[in-house]
Amino acid sequence: MSKYEPVSAEVVAALQTALGAEYVRTDAETLEKYKTDEETDPRYHHLPEVVVWPGSTEEVAAVMKIANQYNVPVTPRSAGTSVSCGAIPVYGGIVLLLERMDKIEELNTEGMYMVVEAGARTVEIQEKANAAGFLYAGDPCSADSCLIGGNIATNAGGNKAVRYGTTRDQVYAIEAVTPTGDIVNVGARLKKKSTGYCLEQLIMGSEGTLGIITKATLKLLPLCPYKLDLLAIFTDLDKAVGLVPNLIKAGLNPTSVEFMDNAFVRSSSDYCELKLPHYEDGFYVIVTVETFNEDELESKMEQLDEICSASGATDVLEADDRVWKLRRNCLESTRVLSLVSTSDDLVVPVDQIANCIRHLTKVAENYSFKLFTLAHAGDGNLHFQILKGEMSDEQWEDEVSRFHAEAYPYVYSLGGRLSGEHGIGAKKVEAMEKYTEPVEMKMMKEIKRALDPKNILNPGKVFNA
Ligand SMILES: Cc1cc2nc3c(=O)[nH]c(=O)nc-3n(C[C@H](O)[C@H](O)[C@H](O)COP(=O)(O)OP(=O)(O)OC[C@H]3O[C@@H](n4cnc5c(N)ncnc54)[C@H](O)[C@@H]3O)c2cc1C
Repeated sequence: MSKYEPVSAEVVAALQTALGAEYVRTDAETLEKYKTDEETDPRYHHLPEVVVWPGSTEEVAAVMKIANQYNVPVTPRSAGTSVSCGAIPVYGGIVLLLERMDKIEELNTEGMYMVVEAGARTVEIQEKANAAGFLYAGDPCSADSCLIGGNIATNAGGNKAVRYGTTRDQVYAIEAVTPTGDIVNVGARLKKKSTGYCLEQLIMGSEGTLGIITKATLKLLPLCPYKLDLLAIFTDLDKAVGLVPNLIKAGLNPTSVEFMDNAFVRSSSDYCELKLPHYEDGFYVIVTVETFNEDELESKMEQLDEICSASGATDVLEADDRVWKLRRNCLESTRVLSLVSTSDDLVVPVDQIANCIRHLTKVAENYSFKLFTLAHAGDGNLHFQILKGEMSDEQWEDEVSRFHAEAYPYVYSLGGRLSGEHGIGAKKVEAMEKYTEPVEMKMMKEIKRALDPKNILNPGKVFNA
């Protein structure tokens, strides 16, 4: 039984007073729309009781105060592209949407920073930075649809993390609303800082459990004028994954090193109606290098070509946007093959990514589900898409849990963790409790209790507080 109170007429009235009636909805169609994010398995879906669209930080704070007063849980939501059930209101209550707060407030070319509201779309931030000659280096594959607040909350990774790091590395400072409804500004536009706890880094990546991000100051970098995308095609898995350590050790400082197995090559090619060489039997490794100087690009190209060939590539092609189209559509392409699937987002030390892909691909051969493998290989981040297809719910649950029981301890034995970028959400809460060292888990729970004594903000995510 829930320890929360239901959303009463009194709560709805208080929300309407704070936000305006048009920004508070309880109709069945709206509630239905927000019962899930990217999760397709209906067993994870939960209806909210009310959905709200605050238009300012003060209004977000007002919602949190009301939620605390009436003991109602709040789930913050950006674009809902979470693949770990992060934006699902597992205890009902209020879903709080940030999409009205979508302004890019400032782009400062002298100081090389941008100030954005949490609801700004990631792609718009990237485009605005590029137009001014700068790079915003956060680049999840979902950039076209996700919002910056969602990226910061999950510490999103993506295609450029090999060179530039994840979202937390692109952020100077945030404004956030605390679980009890205070407004706080943490972080500063500084290169270094040893001034108390690094609270901005604590809130970033906390998956909306320690604060609702409402604004951020983002770092900009000079835009490299020279860029090359290369597609190395292998017909042998071992050789394809073997390329990764060779690339990293060569000191090429690539921007991206992405791996797609042949199952993904086929599904995404079919979905995009676009076939590149070795559709039938190829494993693709996409490598991007960027430089500030043309000669440097030339020399890196030569070096890359040599390394790929020495690693056993069947073909090494200069790639264009088509290859990125295939990469970006991988996840979507499996949706047409199976309505229900589950994503895994394991991370291991970079020097172990090849072993990990080899080993877990072998392990998966003992199961009857279909396994598709992708990797942000250059940063050790592995994605499995496991498709249910026609199997029964019982067999599906049994097979996935047995596979996880083999895969997770193996990943931890390599020094890895359960999630590299998607977060724990609601989906991996049990695994998080199981595989996290007890003292570390205790510290996390104590922090959560200290900041959110009534467990109002995004309960049921990361762990059970
Ligand atoms: C096709 C596809 C490709 C993807 N590729 C990548 C990838 O390359 N790299 C990657 O990291 N992820 C990827 N993802 C996962 C997802 O896009 C990211 O996790 C993204 O950061 C979520 O952003 P969002 O705006 O959709 O947030 P949501 O899904 O709405 O929310 C995500 C989590 O953050 C919380 N939250 C949202 N907004 C706020 C806020 N303002 N303050 C506090 N908490 C908040 C939510 O409660 C939830 O727990 C992909 C997803 C899809 C569907």
